[in-house]
Amino acid sequence: MRIKHKIKPIKRLGQNLLIDKQIIKKVVRTANLQSKDIVLEIGPGTGALTQEIAKTVKKVIAVEKDPRMCEALKENLKELKNIEIINQDILKFKIQNSKLIQNSKFKIQNYKLVANLPFYITAPVIRKFLELKNPPKEMILIIQKEVAQRICPRPPKLEERRRGKSPKMNILAVSVQFYANVKIISYISKKSFYPQPKVDSAIIKIVPKKKYKNVDIDLFFKIVKAGFSHPRKQLANNLANGLKLSKKEINDLLLKNNIQPTQRAETLFINNWIKLSNMLNPVRD
Ligand code: SAM
Repeated sequence: MRIKHKIKPIKRLGQNLLIDKQIIKKVVRTANLQSKDIVLEIGPGTGALTQEIAKTVKKVIAVEKDPRMCEALKENLKELKNIEIINQDILKFKIQNSKLIQNSKFKIQNYKLVANLPFYITAPVIRKFLELKNPPKEMILIIQKEVAQRICPRPPKLEERRRGKSPKMNILAVSVQFYANVKIISYISKKSFYPQPKVDSAIIKIVPKKKYKNVDIDLFFKIVKAGFSHPRKQLANNLANGLKLSKKEINDLLLKNNIQPTQRAETLFINNWIKLSNMLNPVRD
């Protein structure tokens, strides 16, 4: 089956189509797809990845914002009967309302998310799917290389930490690592896409993990947001302002956790945030 590329790509919609067959195969291999799997694909475009996925799995739900792409997709993949194409913005898409969940034959808990993501929605998509009551079993995503490296920072070795090297977390990294285990599978050259984007990409795999026990999620994220409110400023100031606590209370709390008040939010590991949130939770035993 030939995939046609007659449509003029729209930059605003992040339409950088995958043209490297080896990369398409690698994404599919990484997802370790089985014949019983249900896959939700975001932004199928003209269907290069969709076609490979659909050959293996039971069902593909493909959510695409651009109606021109949906038409092309229907035409390109008309021989495959296990694809449901939904013309919608994924950020507005309610997975609970899709046919997937109305049909009780399909267990919504057992779906995988696969996407060559349009770069402009990377963070909201990852957050949306991790925060769902029924998150995917795993997410295999193509995202910008730099974003991938920020989400999965290599923890500095002991010697590097002594020299003051920090993990350089950001708020997305904290959210992802709170809900999931995440790793970079491999890097992709920008030459593998048409039109060619300005930067290279990476394939990442996100696997949701068991929820932390005894963590007040709202409080946790309130603290994280306060900590990162001015990322270049000192953590103690951000927390005192954001949480409406005195500087002394915050300094004491940080020092009890072996964190210097002068550190920046980017230097904290996920466990540091969890400890802070548990110590600030008055109702916890
Ligand atoms: N999967 C195709 C491929 O790998 O060749 C296309 C990937 S392209 C990077 C991103 C696709 O996402 C485009 O088809 C674009 O129209 C679509 N898209 C952009 N914003 C979207 C949104 N908010 N919801 C759903 N699809 C979107």
